[in-house]
Amino acid sequence: MTREEEISAKLREVEGKIAAATSRAGRVRNEIQLIVVTKNFPVSDAQILYDLGIRAFGENRDQEGSLKSEQLPSDITWHFQGQVQSRKIKSIASWADYVHSLDSLDHARKFSSYPEVKLRNFFIQVNLEPLRIDRGGVSSEALEPLLEAIQSETEIRPIGLMAVAPAQVEPERAFAQMQEIRNRILTSFPEITALSLGMSGDYEAAIAAGATHLRIGSSILGSRVLPA
Ligand SMILES: *Cc1c(COP(=O)(O)O)cnc(C)c1O
Repeated sequence: MTREEEISAKLREVEGKIAAATSRAGRVRNEIQLIVVTKNFPVSDAQILYDLGIRAFGENRDQEGSLKSEQLPSDITWHFQGQVQSRKIKSIASWADYVHSLDSLDHARKFSSYPEVKLRNFFIQVNLEPLRIDRGGVSSEALEPLLEAIQSETEIRPIGLMAVAPAQVEPERAFAQMQEIRNRILTSFPEITALSLGMSGDYEAAIAAGATHLRIGSSILGSRVLPA
């Protein structure tokens, strides 16, 4: 089997499962965006995906995303989903169309100070594991104060929330919690409607919980040689 055939078969399988989960949830496919996470995979794999019609790619590292975005066609939408580092913000803002992992007022201020960039779409990452601060994301308690500060002090208007389901919690529970948090803030922040939830191991549960953006890597591209 060629790499093209392999990726094509896996993509079709994932698309089939997305379609089934979507109809089980009584939802429609076009309200769900599949982002194929190409981190740690070569640009040739991303090109294969592009030729198969994929136009949304996810990357965790600035340098890798920046290089790939230069080498691939310009009608691709790039999603940055790794932890934001302050000194990388200007660069991230030069190639990414979406940031899924905004979690601090300082970073929002810094992104906001580059008005020339194309980056307009931000998700706030919520940390569902309050004891693990190394993971990135704000706690559910700190979310509204952060949103209020971003709203009043920067030009950034987040469109959604992002989370990674904690390993020791059932994804159904974690994603239901995200749905509750989103519903809770909706009265104060009606423009925050999107939910970036679901990876290779849990995207069907994410669809059931109202995810609008799925970030899927290994089920389509195979296991990564390097750790995430
Ligand atoms: C790596 C990563 C993904 C994709 O993970 P897979 O298990 O390969 O599907 C999604 N979201 C984030 C934040 C990631 O770091």
